[in-house]
Amino acid sequence: TQHLLARVTAASQLGAFLHVDADGALAHAAEADRRLAAGEASPLLGIPLAHKDIYVTADMPTTAGSKILAGYRSPFDATVVARLNAAGTFSLGKLNCDEFAMGSANENSAFGPAHNPWDRSRVPGGSSGGSAVAVAARLVPATTGTDTGGSIRQPASFTGITGIKPTYGVCSRYGMIAFASSLDQAGPMARSAEDCALLLSAMSGFDERDATSINQPPQDFHAQMLAPREGATAAQPLKGLRIGLPREFFPAALSADVNSAVRQGLAELEKLGATLVEVSLPRTELAIPVYYIIAPAEASSNLSRFDGVKFGHRAANYTDLLDMYKKTRAEGFGPEVKRRIMIGTYVLSHGYYDAYYLQAQKLRRMIADDFQQAFQHCDVIAGPVAPSVAWKAGEGAEDPVKAYLADIFTLPGSLAGLPGMSVPVGFGEAGMPVGLQLIGNYFKEGQLLHTAHALQ
Ligand code: GLN
Repeated sequence: TQHLLARVTAASQLGAFLHVDADGALAHAAEADRRLAAGEASPLLGIPLAHKDIYVTADMPTTAGSKILAGYRSPFDATVVARLNAAGTFSLGKLNCDEFAMGSANENSAFGPAHNPWDRSRVPGGSSGGSAVAVAARLVPATTGTDTGGSIRQPASFTGITGIKPTYGVCSRYGMIAFASSLDQAGPMARSAEDCALLLSAMSGFDERDATSINQPPQDFHAQMLAPREGATAAQPLKGLRIGLPREFFPAALSADVNSAVRQGLAELEKLGATLVEVSLPRTELAIPVYYIIAPAEASSNLSRFDGVKFGHRAANYTDLLDMYKKTRAEGFGPEVKRRIMIGTYVLSHGYYDAYYLQAQKLRRMIADDFQQAFQHCDVIAGPVAPSVAWKAGEGAEDPVKAYLADIFTLPGSLAGLPGMSVPVGFGEAGMPVGLQLIGNYFKEGQLLHTAHALQ
């Protein structure tokens, strides 16, 4: 822990952390030492982590990357954090992220950007940018992220680490500040599928405080990851596994460097015994407009609670209550958050609801159905995580729509609520890492982790 704290200080220019609690971490480490010396044994006891600053924590501030939460302190821990603590982990601090998890480059954080440790002039991806940087720069062995439309998978791909977003409902959203509630999911980001499996086992499970939490018995994802496939051999651990490649995930516009790194990863999977089959997800392109209607709609509703009354920032000078709301929100929210509140309010408004929101909901169902069609022909779907490697800082900033388009391969799985992960497979332009995306059917996290583990 001392070593990691020194690294965190030395790497402060990376912008990974928004808050560091050195004294707290050292006290927790000493306590873990005592428990280990007393003979307690559990895989996560004494493991230092850090959490995306969108999880509320009682012992540290929580900002969600927003000025509107300045000064806010939660009276409780998010369920995911509480469960990881109960498993013996402790936290070094809170990690930078796009404001309310809206973004793909960590450039929408009110507290400044995070930088990609592979090339500091490039973005680390987002919105869980700080979480990815902290693992990639070896500041902590693992972190938590959240994924609404790709925010675990894309930064994992951009920084060469492993991250998994489980099936919607597997992890509790209680205490995870809401962006788009029907899409938000927690997940781990780490150096390997194995570390992700250990963390996910601790993070997941039914929580009566989240109405969308799935009531199923606790899962041992590590055991599922290790369980041999029927008919597998030592040389061919993936024998019999059918991997579906959606035609739409390999468009002509896909960068050649990403395409070749992904193809190398797929060739490795073939050597391990998997067979590749072509499948189709015909509504892939529609996932972008559908997501960018549904997510802002839900965000506009969720963010109405930040009104200067209950949480964080309140404008200093105002004439009446309405003026206080207006000034507080004008000062507290950044430009991307305001843009999404406006889009969301518009698509939910009387007269436009049927034309936009209802249409998007219908298409969302059809996108989910397309996946079920594809899973008739394969066990796991594979493709790129993003159309390019991490781009140069500032490049996405001037045109938000361009940034939205880069989410094309992560949004379909999110809209369907499916589990997905990013596994590093190679390097592209300028030596930047490239991740392979694996998407499983509902509750097939174990199969995804097994496949990724075989590659690693
Ligand atoms: N890039 C997407 C967005 O800006 C996804 C973000 C996320 O998954 N939190 O909404």
